[in-house]
Amino acid sequence: MAISKSKLSKKRLGDWVINPYVGCEHGCKHCYCPAMPGVKFFNNGRVQREWGKYLFPKPDWVEKLKKDLIRFRQKGSAAGRGYILCSFLTDCYTPAEANYQLTRQSLELLLAAGFRVRVQTRSALIERDLSLYEEHSDKVLVGTSLPYLDDRFARVLEPGASAPSRRVRMLEKFASAGVPIYVAVAPFMPFHTIVDFERVLNAIRPMNPVEVFDEVLNPRSDNLDMMNDALADAGEARRIGSGYPAAWPRYTLNHLREAQAACTAAGLGDRFIAWPDPRAAKSKSLTHAERKWLQAWLPSYQDLVVR
Ligand code: SF4
Repeated sequence: MAISKSKLSKKRLGDWVINPYVGCEHGCKHCYCPAMPGVKFFNNGRVQREWGKYLFPKPDWVEKLKKDLIRFRQKGSAAGRGYILCSFLTDCYTPAEANYQLTRQSLELLLAAGFRVRVQTRSALIERDLSLYEEHSDKVLVGTSLPYLDDRFARVLEPGASAPSRRVRMLEKFASAGVPIYVAVAPFMPFHTIVDFERVLNAIRPMNPVEVFDEVLNPRSDNLDMMNDALADAGEARRIGSGYPAAWPRYTLNHLREAQAACTAAGLGDRFIAWPDPRAAKSKSLTHAERKWLQAWLPSYQDLVVR
């Protein structure tokens, strides 16, 4: 199967997903994709620390997608809004896409068939396909992750991705062409403050984003250690403290409250989408009222039913 049902409807991102590649050459240190079954059972035994150093195009990808599309019908859930996501276990514009063009071919098939597609990438390579997005601007939503705007810092933690400043310019090109855009402030880092969040808001507000998605750093598998190792290797003083996993629920609560207020002040309150991981939202380290506040951001069962 090329089109899979996606659990990312819980994050209100979409209902289905395509991942033409196993691996991602961007090699972000925070990335939890290598810990996910869709990667770790298909990466020929590579360990999490090899993330960024391998990429496997899926065999017969285009033929499999064509076969799926013969029967695929797209309605979707209230939370996922029927979007097909491209891609969330790899970056669909990982550098090798310039050669393989599996993402390009997938988009051509999906859009020609009339499906709605959400594309999220940390790569300016997406500009290669701008005219395709422009032609189908009623069916696409294009976004990038912008957890902060510091290019030098991003080089340490997102070594293979386009720099944040370049991603802002990329979004500007798409917005100017009439393509709807959004930003994912993800993952928001423990050593950043609301000032860093506001800098991102100021950069994207002129582009009239349709969504400001926000998620704090999710401790998963080895990602915190990998980030700390990369920071140490780069001579950076900042670290993610060993107490972060225990502080994570309260950090999530405090940040999302501040971020919602900042979005409201920027006139983007109705575009704000918070994702408090359910593990954080259920934490006994928070009060009942605090847990309720976080849980209110999570879709209900009814919101997740695909119709
Ligand atoms: S671009 Fe996305 S998928 Fe690729 S390493 Fe970074 S976070 Fe992971």
